[in-house]
Amino acid sequence: MTKKYRITLLPGDGIGPEIIAVAVDVLKVVGQKCDLEFSFDEALIGGAAIDATGEPLPEATLVKCRQSDSVLLAAIGGYKWDNLPREQRPETGLLGLRAGLDLFANLRPATILPQLIDASSLKREIVEGVDIMVVRELTGGVYFGKPKGIFATETGEKRGVNTMAYTQSEIDRIAKLGFETAQKRQGRLCSVDKANVLDVSQLWRDRVIAIAKDYPDVELSHLYVDNAAMQLVRAPKQFDTIVTGNLFGDILSDAAAMLTGSIGMLPSASLSADGPGVYEPVHGSAPDIAGQDKANPLAQVLSAAMMLRYGLNEPLAATMIEEGVTKVLDAGYRTGDIMSAGMIATGCKGMGEALLKVL
Ligand code: NAD
Repeated sequence: MTKKYRITLLPGDGIGPEIIAVAVDVLKVVGQKCDLEFSFDEALIGGAAIDATGEPLPEATLVKCRQSDSVLLAAIGGYKWDNLPREQRPETGLLGLRAGLDLFANLRPATILPQLIDASSLKREIVEGVDIMVVRELTGGVYFGKPKGIFATETGEKRGVNTMAYTQSEIDRIAKLGFETAQKRQGRLCSVDKANVLDVSQLWRDRVIAIAKDYPDVELSHLYVDNAAMQLVRAPKQFDTIVTGNLFGDILSDAAAMLTGSIGMLPSASLSADGPGVYEPVHGSAPDIAGQDKANPLAQVLSAAMMLRYGLNEPLAATMIEEGVTKVLDAGYRTGDIMSAGMIATGCKGMGEALLKVL
């Protein structure tokens, strides 16, 4: 029997509409092959939502997302909205989406594809075979802790404040997901903190060690975040799964991303305990190339594959997409961001068409 899924599409800004169109075409073809029927419903977020409604995350968008099985997001933001007050900025819409859907965890794979090794800024022998998953806490830590704001001191000087805070239950929840993710991979988990300086990190480390007792099959290690950053570029193959807080995860997952050569290739999944997840590329809205048919749609397409695997439990369809991506790269198709000598230059649409052909 055909399985039916309701997908909310959030194209957002910049290259968003171009790349999400490719992902939708791919999902339709894979759906036909795997007996899955997707109904797609678009909603506004980011700058596009600001222009239409004055808000970066209209309530109607959140309602639509909550009623769907999964949310496929492209990217938000652009020069046009950069000078608005913080609460009206596109990024506020993204934070609101994460909080509104209780997306407490962000999974970001950084895998080196053999065809793209030479696109990495590191040497081949350092990056060949890299396969890392960063599990980042997403709804706590310094991005959400209170007090926050810019206040006046007694002397009238301005003072900016953010608060890095985690409760025990917030740490336990992400730590468990870290261990479970490692179990599905090579069974090694590295917890990253700054326990030598920060009290919040000491609690983080204590709780991760306590939770580890339930996962005797996972080998646990700890690194301070500064050392973790260094190790990621020195010897990235030592890592399997990394679990860390919101701020450290934001920075480390971008560093891990660059090991792979192009940010245009990297998908991500944001998961909630029981509602729909949000699947989106790691990159932003790339306003510098928007509307020029230059964007690499593969991170968005691979995000759709993550949606099938982690959100809808359709691993066969996910694998079909991932193999399709490997095949178009093997065939030599490259967008500008991953171009190298002797390959076939193509644009966003061309890459999509090549992908549909191999599928
Ligand atoms: P960016 O990721 O948009 O772009 C960085 C560079 O990578 C640019 O040169 C861009 O052209 C290139 N690039 C990105 N994605 C690409 C793709 N798919 N194919 C080819 N090249 C690609 O980051 P930025 O320039 O720092 O930010 C631009 C806007 O995006 C800002 O408004 C920022 O706030 C927003 N942003 C949004 C998200 C998100 O929606 N999750 C994430 C990061 C940045």
